[in-house]
Amino acid sequence: MSDSIKEPYRVKVPDIDYWRGKIGCTTGCPVKTDARGYVIAIAEGRYEDAYRIARAPNPFASMCGRICGAPCEVSCTRGKVGVDTSGPVAIRALKRFATEVYGVERVRDLRETLESSNARGSAYPQLTGEKIAIIGAGVAGMTVAHDLARLGYRVTVFEALATAGGQMAAGVPIYRLDRELMNLEIAAICELGVDLRLNTPVGSPGLTIPDLRNDGYKAIVIASGMMSGRKLTVPGADADGVLVGIEFLRDVNLGRPVETGERVVVVGGGNVAMDVTRTSIRTPVMPGLSRLSKPKNYAMTDVARLLARTAKTVDVVVPESRIKMPADEYEIEEALLEGARLHNNRMPVEILKDDNGHVRAMVSKRVISLIDASGRFNPQLDDDDVLTIECDTVLVTISQMVDWNFLTGVDNLKRTPRGTIEIDPDTLQTSEPDIWAVGDIALGARLFIDAIASGQRAALAIDEALTGKTYKLQRRGYMRPLPIVSYDMPAQYDAYIRQEPPEIRPAERSAAFDLVEFNFTEKAAREQGMRCLRCHINVVFDAEKCILCGLCINICPESILKMVPVTEVAGDVDLARLIESKYGVPQEALRPEDGTVMLMDGTKCIRCALCAKICPVNCISMEAFEYEEQLVPLETPSRTTLPVIA
Ligand SMILES: Cc1cc2nc3c(=O)[nH]c(=O)nc-3n(C[C@H](O)[C@H](O)[C@H](O)COP(=O)(O)OP(=O)(O)OC[C@H]3O[C@@H](n4cnc5c(N)ncnc54)[C@H](O)[C@@H]3O)c2cc1C
Repeated sequence: MSDSIKEPYRVKVPDIDYWRGKIGCTTGCPVKTDARGYVIAIAEGRYEDAYRIARAPNPFASMCGRICGAPCEVSCTRGKVGVDTSGPVAIRALKRFATEVYGVERVRDLRETLESSNARGSAYPQLTGEKIAIIGAGVAGMTVAHDLARLGYRVTVFEALATAGGQMAAGVPIYRLDRELMNLEIAAICELGVDLRLNTPVGSPGLTIPDLRNDGYKAIVIASGMMSGRKLTVPGADADGVLVGIEFLRDVNLGRPVETGERVVVVGGGNVAMDVTRTSIRTPVMPGLSRLSKPKNYAMTDVARLLARTAKTVDVVVPESRIKMPADEYEIEEALLEGARLHNNRMPVEILKDDNGHVRAMVSKRVISLIDASGRFNPQLDDDDVLTIECDTVLVTISQMVDWNFLTGVDNLKRTPRGTIEIDPDTLQTSEPDIWAVGDIALGARLFIDAIASGQRAALAIDEALTGKTYKLQRRGYMRPLPIVSYDMPAQYDAYIRQEPPEIRPAERSAAFDLVEFNFTEKAAREQGMRCLRCHINVVFDAEKCILCGLCINICPESILKMVPVTEVAGDVDLARLIESKYGVPQEALRPEDGTVMLMDGTKCIRCALCAKICPVNCISMEAFEYEEQLVPLETPSRTTLPVIA
C-alpha cells in the first residue's frame, strides 16, 4: 500500500477581523449596518433601539428598508447553515418594520431621525465652514451633504431635475417606493441647513464647474450618477417607438408624456430591465393613483394618460440563459407573475419598421455563446434560429451611461475605460485635487447602499483635506462571557422559516401603480427576527482545562467540532507563533502524539450551546463579541477602557 499524503487542516487563529467577519450581515453591508443588532432588537420588542441601530450609519434607512439590494442577506449565516433551507433572515424587510415605527415616515420632527446618526458632528450644526458644491441630489450626493453639513460646512446641492432623489425618484418604479417617504428622507437632510437647488443643472449652457470655483466653493463633489442608457445599434434601431428603458422609466416616474403601445418588447435581463418590464405592464386604475398622496410631485393627468396607453403584452428578450440572468430571482419571478414572457438566449438583430417609420417587429437570433475563450463579450448567434416578435414599442435596457455635460470647462479630469470618473478608491478624490466623485459615476452602476458608503468616505476625505487633520478608525473588541446556566437561544429560533412581506395579489397589480409590498405585522416581524443566529455569540474553549473526552464533538448537531493531532494543522504566522509559544518548539519539531488541536468551523455554528452544557470540566463557554469603532484624529491617544483583542 502506498502512503497517501494527507492535506493539513487549514486553520485561522481568531482575531478581531475573524470575530467581526463572522457577523456576515454587518461586514457584508457597505456602511456596516449592525443588522444583527436591529433584527435581535425587533425580536425582543425593542423597536426604538432597532430604529436607532438601523439609522445610525445610514441617512436613507427608510428607503433602504423598502428597496435596498440587501447585500446583508447574501452574507447572512442563516441562509448558509442547516437549520432550515428557507433562506437568510428577512433583514431588509425587518428594517422597514423598524423605520415604520420610528423613522421619517412616523416622527413629527424630522430632526429626531438626525439625532440617531453616528456620523460625526451635530444634528444642529452651526454652518460656518467652507462652501461645498455637490452636483446631483441622488443618495450619494445627499449623503455627502448630510455628513458635511453636520460638521458645519455650507453645502449647496445642484440638481438638474425638478425633484431630488436621483434614481430613487427617476428610476425606481412608483410601485416599489413611496415618493412621499423619499421626500421626507431628503427633507430631513435639508433640515441640517443644506441648500438644495432643483432645476439647476451644472454644465453647458448654464452654471459650470469653473463658475463654482469662482464662487468660492472649496470642494466640488460630482454625484451625477449614470442617468443615460445605451441605445441598440442593430439595423432599424432608429425606428419610432424604440426607446431607452431608463429614459422611459424616468418619464413615467416624473409624469411626463411617453409614447408606448400595447405590444412591448423589452431588451435586457438585469434588474433595471425588470423594472422597465413591470412598469410597462401596468395599466391605469384611478383609485390606485389616488393613493399617491402628494399629487403635486407628479403630473397626475399625464401619468393617467400614459397608463391608458401602456402595454398589454410584454415580451422580454434576454441574451443570457434563465439561470444566468443578472436580475434578482425575486424580480424575475414578479415580472413573470405579472404577465411578462421571457425569451432567454436571444439577441436582437434587426428592428422592422412600418411605412411610417414606426417599429412593427423585432427580429432576434438564438445565442450560441456570449463570451469567447479570452473572456471577451463576443456573441455567437445561430442564423437558423430566428424569432420575430410583432410589437409597437421596444424598450432597450442594456446598460447605463454617463452624460458628461457637467464637465464643461474642466479638461483634465481623468476617466476610466469603464466610462466612470477615475478616483482614489479610499478617498474618492479625482485627478483634480478639489473635485471628488461619488456614487455610480465613480463606482459604476451598483446599489444605493454602495453609493451611500462612497458618499461617507468622500465626506471624510473632504473634511480631512480642508482641515488638514487626519482621522483613523479606532476599533475595539472584547468577549463578554454569558452565564451558561441560563444561556439559551430565543425560544423557537428554529421554528420559523423565512417569510416574505405580504404583497398585493399579482392579478390586481397590473391595474395600478400601488405599492406592491406591505409591512410585516408585528407578530411576523418578531418571528422573523427570532430567526437570527446571533453570530456575535461564540463558542470559546479553554485549552488548559480540556480533558479531550470528546463529548462536545459527539453532541454537536452540526458536526462542526473535530480533534486532530497538532501536526495536522496549517495556517499563517499567527498559528506558528501560537504553537511555538505553547510547546516551546516550532510545529515542524512536533510529533502527532505531542498535542491535540480542537478545530471548529465557526461559520456553521448554530449557537445551541449543547457543547458547553455537556462539558464535564466547564472548559467551553459561550461569549458575546462586543465591538465598537470610532474615527479619532491621529494625534488623540487611544482610550484603553476596553481590552483590545487585536
Ligand atoms: C431603474 C433603477 C432601479 C434601481 N433599483 C435599485 C434598487 O432597488 N436597489 C438598489 O440598491 N439599487 C437600485 N438601483 C441602483 C441605484 O439607483 C444607484 O446605484 C444609485 O441611484 C446611485 O446613486 P447616485 O447618487 O450615484 O446617482 P443617481 O441616483 O443617479 O443620482 C444622480 C443625480 O444627479 C443628477 N444630475 C445628473 N447630471 C447632473 C448635472 N449635470 N447637474 C446637476 N445634477 C445632475 C441627476 O438628475 C440625479 O438626480 C437602481 C437603478 C436604476 C437605474
